[in-house]
Amino acid sequence: MNGSILVTGGAGFLGSHLCDALIARGNDVVAVDNFYTGSKDNLSGAIDSRRFELMRHDIWLPLFIEVDRIFNLACPASPIHYQNDPVATVKTSVLGAINMLGLAKRRKARILQASTSEVYGDPQIHPQPETYWGHVNPIGPRACYDEGKRCAETLFFDYHRQHNVDIRVMRIFNTYGPRMHPRDGRVVSNFIIQALNNEDITIYGDGSQTRSFCYVDDMIKGMLAFMDQDAHVGPLNVGNPHEITVRDLAETIIELTDSRSRIDFRDLPADDPLQRKPDIAQATETMNWQPTVGLHDGLQETIRYFRWLLG
Ligand code: NAD
Ligand code: UDP
Ligand code: UDP
Repeated sequence: MNGSILVTGGAGFLGSHLCDALIARGNDVVAVDNFYTGSKDNLSGAIDSRRFELMRHDIWLPLFIEVDRIFNLACPASPIHYQNDPVATVKTSVLGAINMLGLAKRRKARILQASTSEVYGDPQIHPQPETYWGHVNPIGPRACYDEGKRCAETLFFDYHRQHNVDIRVMRIFNTYGPRMHPRDGRVVSNFIIQALNNEDITIYGDGSQTRSFCYVDDMIKGMLAFMDQDAHVGPLNVGNPHEITVRDLAETIIELTDSRSRIDFRDLPADDPLQRKPDIAQATETMNWQPTVGLHDGLQETIRYFRWLLG
């Protein structure tokens, strides 16, 4: 498509990969970020392109800019960061969504919301289809993120119904890969860094909880495909349905890094979902998308990145 594309949260893990992919296909890209968890280092490739602009801005403040498409990714995504300033998380999710929807409405721009599997909370249906309404504690430590993202979905659908805004709502499941923040406490980055340093691997709880991990390249392809198709507004699950326990993940990472790390069991944080796995039938049907990168290959790439980062 012609015209320019706004990526909020463009200096983050997913946002920076998205900027690279958009520039590679010839789009003009404006990234907006307040650098709360993102970094200019993630954009060291993009910044050399004349198709790219970077702007420091907080999306909970209005933004008047002439763009034709919007990917709204700005929001801290890891429990450590989104719980560090929970009020800021809600402001970013809710006020940020209102501002970006106001911008999309004025510009008649298509807008994609990076929603999350956390809208399902600690799910009582497994795997999770888009039709499931979720099981979320509205006042717990994860609520600023879960309810913030749920309210953002509400706003997207209300702007769609009330103001005819052209929305896409994508529910992203756990994604990993190069450029994950090394100190955001997510399981894949924590385990890899601990394994490379031969430190204890910190498993929260007994490690029997499950997640399903999607490699970043697959996720970005899914995001672009969803934005490019005209038939469905979502919500749409995008993720890898290969489910694994946290304990098996730890053992796989120890093996792949040839590490001497041992496992250290810690307390399970409050409201930590016991299981998570996307039902991706709709994504496959809507845009013929499926993940193609297996866990071992994706982990190898991520380990290579953290080896380089740790020097
Ligand atoms: P990230 O923390 O690396 O990126 C988020 C970016 O948003 C950062 O660069 C941060 O500085 C920026 N940001 C935060 N608040 C902002 C604000 N008020 N104004 C402007 N910029 C702001 O996280 P990520 O993993 O790249 O996640 C990107 C999006 O995808 C988030 O909305 C997240 O909720 C969603 N998501 C990610 C995952 C995952 O597994 N990575 C899963 C589900 C949903
Ligand atoms: N907004 C923005 N950029 C724009 C247009 C709107 O940031 O280009 C903000 C605007 O400041 C408002 C919000 O988006 O607070 C919602 O806009 P909308 O038009 O829905 O609401 P209204 O301006 O009527 O309150
Ligand atoms: N986890 C863990 N050790 C860590 C970090 C996380 O056992 O060092 C667990 C965490 O309790 C959760 C799972 O791994 O059950 C995934 O955590 P993450 O924060 O990556 O993502 P989310 O809980 O948001 O899916």
